[in-house]
Amino acid sequence: MKGRIYDKLCAIDDSGRASALSTEPTVFCAQCGAEAHDPSSVCEPVDIQTRK
Ligand SMILES: [Zn+2]
Repeated sequence: MKGRIYDKLCAIDDSGRASALSTEPTVFCAQCGAEAHDPSSVCEPVDIQTRK
């Protein structure tokens, strides 16, 4: 199974890389809830402040 979803934080298995990318998250994924600093790292970025 390969696809562009693996470019996204949501699909990253490496927890070290994932945690680095999620430092001070600014967005979260509307589909799976993953948090990221870079909106391009999740499949459906939503401003994280709208969740609080
Ligand atoms: Zn996602």
